[in-house]
Amino acid sequence: MQLKTDLYIDGKWVKGDGTIPVIDPSNGEVIAEVATAGESQCDAAVAAADRAFVTWSKTAPRVRAEILRKAFELMIAESDHLAKLTSMENGKVFSDAKGEIAYAAEFFRWFSEEAVRTPGDFRMAPSGDKRILVTHQPIGVSLLITPWNFPAAMATRKIGPALAAGCTMILKPASETPLTALAIIDILERAGVPAGVVNLILPSKTGPMISKMLHDPRVRNLSFTGSTEVGRVLLKESADCVLRTSMELGGNAPFVVLADANIDDAVAGAMIAKMRNGGAACTAANRFIVAKSVAEEFTTKFAKAMGALKVAPGLEEGAQLGASVSIKERNKIAELVDASVAAGGKLELGGKTPEGAGAFYPATVISVTKENPILNHEVFGPVAPVVTFENDEEAIALANATEFGLISYVYSSDLKRAIKTAEAIESGMVAINRGVISDPAAPFGGFKQSGLGREGGFHGIHEFLETKYIGVEI
Ligand code: NAP
Repeated sequence: MQLKTDLYIDGKWVKGDGTIPVIDPSNGEVIAEVATAGESQCDAAVAAADRAFVTWSKTAPRVRAEILRKAFELMIAESDHLAKLTSMENGKVFSDAKGEIAYAAEFFRWFSEEAVRTPGDFRMAPSGDKRILVTHQPIGVSLLITPWNFPAAMATRKIGPALAAGCTMILKPASETPLTALAIIDILERAGVPAGVVNLILPSKTGPMISKMLHDPRVRNLSFTGSTEVGRVLLKESADCVLRTSMELGGNAPFVVLADANIDDAVAGAMIAKMRNGGAACTAANRFIVAKSVAEEFTTKFAKAMGALKVAPGLEEGAQLGASVSIKERNKIAELVDASVAAGGKLELGGKTPEGAGAFYPATVISVTKENPILNHEVFGPVAPVVTFENDEEAIALANATEFGLISYVYSSDLKRAIKTAEAIESGMVAINRGVISDPAAPFGGFKQSGLGREGGFHGIHEFLETKYIGVEI
């Protein structure tokens, strides 16, 4: 496997001021040493993006579209290699990694189609004294910061619309998973992205170096995906220069099973909503809110399905639940489960940290009461707390009892009842009778402290565009 491990600045692969190891979390072994950027390299990346913006922002949309289309085709052609890389550095199983690469590539295809369709507007002012012309222009140099849980898709969900809009960019992947992002940059270079348009850095000191870049007047836009905790810090940092920001932050998704739900369908959906990516997804169902009358049947069947999963290194044949990204992340999961059990949670399955060098945690189901502390945390692992309710109003109140509002899931055999529940839940996305709804053609984003703005769909490109009004005397 040919790995890219250098920084990518101004169309060149360059060494940094040091290196950091990338670890395979399934066995603790070092996969590669990746270059880190010092201050001068961070500055060089901003300078390159700033210079490239002059021409890239004026490139014909069709040219940008065709580069994105080529990048999509390369990603699909090389998806086995990319999925292996993602699985190795992230710990997720190969089938999840393959699914992620397909989803990630789709953002390049979708935004290749969007690049040539940016809408405008030309009309007479109501007073009749002028014409109102509304157009869109690329914002400028954009800083893209991504997390470790979807190292490919979170990068392409930003790079795709940024390229389509005519912005230039600096990508900063998570320190745990830079290899997938580097491989995607290699694909973009081969697809014909000109020098300076896309740059990749991995700062040796993330906080202070990103802060400096957010105070650089050449940087105009921050697109961040990660935890709400870091998002709050970056919003404060961005306030000094009044940067445009889009924030895709944490989640604590409720999975509501109403009394009339088909339980077998709900269990099948729960397995996807909970276990895709080993539970390390912002969209992962995190609180199973189940009608009391069906709770026993649901919990028994769900625990049985969870218990049947094969836990193994991501690249092992038949693996269904891989390692967490690191021992540190795995231990966070274990601490939340231990605290939940100490507060009265009843373990239905799992809950015991295995021995060994790999960052594994077993599929775990816990029956809890609504006061249990685990319900207030994004677990980010294969852990499913189940809490019961008496009526639909109580289910909605439980679903909304969180600072997060990214996604929710509702199961019911009555579509009217399901839609009424979906409308009452405070989240940016609701899945009805489905375990997954992420789609590059649909707007992805959250209410409350799950974020600001939307990625994907018709909205995504607007995160990288300014709206300009030109008043014309006629
Ligand atoms: P994280 O700790 O917030 O890190 C995300 C990114 O921010 C990483 O690249 C990290 O770099 C960087 N970062 C950390 N501190 C920073 C600082 N002070 N200044 C600038 N950058 C900083 O999140 P994570 O643990 O990687 O990812 C998990 C979180 O992401 C979960 O909360 C999940 O819900 C959320 N997420 C949300 C979405 C969504 O679309 N809403 C999608 C996926 C994940 P280093 O690696 O160098 O620290």
